[in-house]
Amino acid sequence: MPRPISAVIHLQNLTHNLSVIRQQVGAAKIWSVMKADAYGHGIKQVWQALAATDGFAILDLNEAILLREEGWQGPILLLEGFFHPTDLLQINHYKLTTAVHSTWQLDAIEQRVFDTPISVYVKLNSGMNRLGFKPEEYRQVINRLLAMESVGNITLMSHFANSDTQNGIEAPHHLIKTLIDDNLSVCIANSGATLWHPSTHYDWVRSGIILYGASPSGKWQDIADKQLKATMTLRSQIIAIHDINAGETIGYGSRFTAQQPMKIATVACGYADGYPRHAPTGTPVWVKGERCPLLGAVSMDMLTIDISHCSTVNIGEEVELWGQNLPIDDVAQCANTIGYELMCALAKRVPIIYED
Ligand SMILES: *Cc1c(COP(=O)(O)O)cnc(C)c1O
Repeated sequence: MPRPISAVIHLQNLTHNLSVIRQQVGAAKIWSVMKADAYGHGIKQVWQALAATDGFAILDLNEAILLREEGWQGPILLLEGFFHPTDLLQINHYKLTTAVHSTWQLDAIEQRVFDTPISVYVKLNSGMNRLGFKPEEYRQVINRLLAMESVGNITLMSHFANSDTQNGIEAPHHLIKTLIDDNLSVCIANSGATLWHPSTHYDWVRSGIILYGASPSGKWQDIADKQLKATMTLRSQIIAIHDINAGETIGYGSRFTAQQPMKIATVACGYADGYPRHAPTGTPVWVKGERCPLLGAVSMDMLTIDISHCSTVNIGEEVELWGQNLPIDDVAQCANTIGYELMCALAKRVPIIYED
């Protein structure tokens, strides 16, 4: 028998979350963001559950090619564009839409012949200072692209650093508006803007984390009213139970000391499975309808929880580390991170079960 840990991917909930997004954005089209192997869910296995999307946005050329070979015929957007001029051969062959964020990419496009004009997303640096052209050079870049016969549809693309706060998009959105014109489609909304800033929806939105039922802000309460459902459940089992006395300690570094007699359980899940090692004592683990606090340090393959108040918990009992009963955001918040990181960090050794 393998170790009793597995991740369950809820395909129906992916489909459901996409329909929730559809309701949010009305007539705008949706790029379903599937970078990082669909936020750890597995592009190959989940894309069909999202087939009602208008397009898939990804990062890696190989992921794009995989999607085409799996049969997706709709739009595919390369979020960071291409990394080498020769990638344009595949962009042409597989009919991919590419972001363009640097002058060398304009040069590369200009020097190449395409079977049909390519669609480009021209990245505007609206203040995040990660990728994109500066506002003052943006019009020139657009004019240069408009003059290229090999370029078809041109979209203004930008990204928000603070779409999860009330006023976080104001300044960048104001700047973006000064550059919108009739030649351009517009795509600027990530998940936070999809949910909380309808004025940013325009022609296309790019929604990632909310497809997977977690909060762009990192706080589950912020999406509690949105009907989004968890798409990944990490579950395992209790493999040992101990009664310990006051004064005894638990785990590496003896980081937890019992203040009174306790019943504790060892769970087959550790940081080598992708569970955050920095999760402190008190991080919730769901067992039989109750949240049991983590105790002491997370080991490579195991962690310990307090089951003093659970009367009927036995060895072999199933526990949920995050998922349908315990929002991944709640666990991430305890560990000082975000749901995104936990999903993407799910380790290869954890078997994934795909459920309809
Ligand atoms: C990852 C990413 C998104 C999606 O972000 P979420 O917060 O997961 O919605 C959108 N646009 C770009 C450019 C990205 O890199």
